[in-house]
Amino acid sequence: MAISRRSFLGALGAGVLLGAQSAGSSVDVVIIGAGSAGLQAAKRLQELGKSVTVIEARGRIGGRAFTDTQTFGVPFDFGCAWLHKADDNPYKPLADQWGYTLQLHSTTLEGLYLRDREATAAERELSEKSEAALSKRLDKLGARKDVAASNAVRRKSEIDDAMATFHGAMSSAVDLDELSTKDYMNIGTDVAPNYLVKEGYGTLVAQFGKNIPVSLNTAARRIRYDGQGVQVETNKGTLTAKACIITSSTGVLAAEKIRFDPVLPVWKQEAIGGLPMGLLAKIPLQFSQPEFRQKAFEDVLRENYGKRDTYFLCWPFQLPLLVGFVGGDFAWELSAAGEDEAVDFGRNALRSMFGSDVDKYFVKGSFTKWASDPWALGAYAAATPGQAGAREGLRRPVADRLFFAGEACAPRWTQTCGGAALSGVETAELVAKVVK
Ligand SMILES: Cc1cc2nc3c(=O)[nH]c(=O)nc-3n(C[C@H](O)[C@H](O)[C@H](O)COP(=O)(O)OP(=O)(O)OC[C@H]3O[C@@H](n4cnc5c(N)ncnc54)[C@H](O)[C@@H]3O)c2cc1C
Repeated sequence: MAISRRSFLGALGAGVLLGAQSAGSSVDVVIIGAGSAGLQAAKRLQELGKSVTVIEARGRIGGRAFTDTQTFGVPFDFGCAWLHKADDNPYKPLADQWGYTLQLHSTTLEGLYLRDREATAAERELSEKSEAALSKRLDKLGARKDVAASNAVRRKSEIDDAMATFHGAMSSAVDLDELSTKDYMNIGTDVAPNYLVKEGYGTLVAQFGKNIPVSLNTAARRIRYDGQGVQVETNKGTLTAKACIITSSTGVLAAEKIRFDPVLPVWKQEAIGGLPMGLLAKIPLQFSQPEFRQKAFEDVLRENYGKRDTYFLCWPFQLPLLVGFVGGDFAWELSAAGEDEAVDFGRNALRSMFGSDVDKYFVKGSFTKWASDPWALGAYAAATPGQAGAREGLRRPVADRLFFAGEACAPRWTQTCGGAALSGVETAELVAKVVK
């Protein structure tokens, strides 16, 4: 059953099911997903005079931008936290305008631990050199070949392993052997200036989206595009539009949570397959005595034989939290093991560096669950070796009616919330040209 925009908007407030709407009417564009890309696309299309319906499977907007204040009683970003590329990021001027508290913070290697001991000055210097040399080799290799980024690793000591994990698992969310060298260059490691947001990056994205009408708890299940326009079948009825923008993660697309009728062309399926989801997971740990070790915003990287390395962001904004990060294969492993195991892992890592104060002041811990989150199925997408072209394929529309947007399609700073926003805006502009 189709739905008119006016009656749909009315339905939002009244909580009426889509299925109750009048038949035969249509909007210009249905947007699937109210994360950064979907919200930005909706706003841009409205500015361009197009009628839009946004549907969101979750009971909230923001997607992978999500600040929770319940767990610790202070804002904590379960998803994105760093506002990257602040000079070009559309959320930065909004944060300034709305009075958010921002702190410039780029992760450093100053607080390096080799398991239970602090690295010496010479080892820290070595780690900086190792990191710089690896970056250089990755750039050089990526300019020539689309192969596994692990080919750029030269292992002379365990510090080289730590730097490989830092570049791969903890930054790109995949181990370097699963990452395309060319995609590493697409992702771009230079995303400064980077800001942390005290009130939460998720709060900022939610504030951006607050006046955009979104039908929550509405999941697209099937998209038909064999006739004119598109019909989007949801759990609340069918929406009809001239085109749709799909912002679901590649994890959701690969799991075929949305069926396409006719099936997507092979080149599009290959693009989705070439961009599997990586995983970055956070282990936030709350303490009753902030700053018992390290000062606010200090970074600690604990090298633990490469694969099980952890990075901690200490006491951001003087909040009583030490936030652990793990990435890549190890993050998937820990996610399969569950929250208790992850919190234990985080505590053990801290205890080995900082001693028994960790237990003395520990209040509680948590663990992000993006691995099993049905509407993300991972943190963000990274192209496998040989598949750097997949992003182009994912961006390419199908039949001038199915458009794809989101972090994996981002024209610049892929994998990021700001990149997803740009993708939303640019896709909206493209759609507006096609949809008359
Ligand atoms: C742990 C973690 C840390 C991160 N750290 C950073 C960081 O510091 N800085 C940064 O810039 N980025 C970071 N990111 C990445 C950033 O959060 C994402 O790139 C960005 O939020 C993705 O936005 P999006 O709109 O592309 O996708 P999403 O936010 O996933 O939005 C897509 C929306 O579509 C909905 N949806 C999916 N399928 C359907 C369906 N069938 N029907 C209806 N709705 C559907 C989903 O529920 C979701 O709300 C991080 C991500 C994670 C997980």
